[in-house]
Amino acid sequence: MPTIVRPAHPFMRLAILSDIHANLPAFEAVLADIEASEVDQSWCLGDVVGYGAQPDECAALARERCSVCLVGNHDLAALDELDISTFSPAASAAVRWTSETMSAETTDFLAALAPAETDHEVALYHASPRDPVWEYVLWPDQAAECIRAQAKRVSFVGHSHVALFFALADQAAGERSLDARGAQAGAGTSLEIGRGRWLINPGSVGQPRDGDSRAAWLELDTDAWHAVYHRVDYDIDGAADAIVAAGLPEHLARRLYVGQ
Ligand code: ZN
Repeated sequence: MPTIVRPAHPFMRLAILSDIHANLPAFEAVLADIEASEVDQSWCLGDVVGYGAQPDECAALARERCSVCLVGNHDLAALDELDISTFSPAASAAVRWTSETMSAETTDFLAALAPAETDHEVALYHASPRDPVWEYVLWPDQAAECIRAQAKRVSFVGHSHVALFFALADQAAGERSLDARGAQAGAGTSLEIGRGRWLINPGSVGQPRDGDSRAAWLELDTDAWHAVYHRVDYDIDGAADAIVAAGLPEHLARRLYVGQ
């Protein structure tokens, strides 16, 4: 009997997650949910550290569980590779605490990451296709420009901590270009992304800012071109208590409860 070799199709079902921000209880809850959904690989869009109190634990888990991991602006700030003069006082305090606290292993892990990866079926950016480190993609006209700049038909971004998507219809040559249509995406929102160009934010694992305090991730099927937004309850008290115990600004603990 000849051996039947299945054609290689490396990334059929993926978990896309972003902005963990050293929130270990949230990251563990998301990883448990991902495990139950039996995806092939997990890809992280960056900001593993910053704001939260467990950077080393989160970096170790990201290294172990995420096949792809980008670096985000907070990771770069903790590595002292980014000017933080525009950071809020609480964010700056967290950067300083993280730089002083994180292990050499965490530093080495983060220092080896890039803010964009465009050699997969979908393009990945921490912030935006035009500026992988800094730009927040939140508005339809701006999203249209970003979508035109992205390296693949479908791209994923993090950074804003808001679960949302923008889409541009396929455009015939000479047709007037339109703004992207888009919307915030609550838990259970599913997208059929087989046509058109898409820019999708899975939301944040460790510090959601879209009014839903639950940890966010997104399931992507690149065979059926289908995406589903997930939200997971986690131990917010545990994450908040760790922030206070570390001497980080209490505001960073309080905002977790309201998802802002
Ligand atoms: Zn972030």
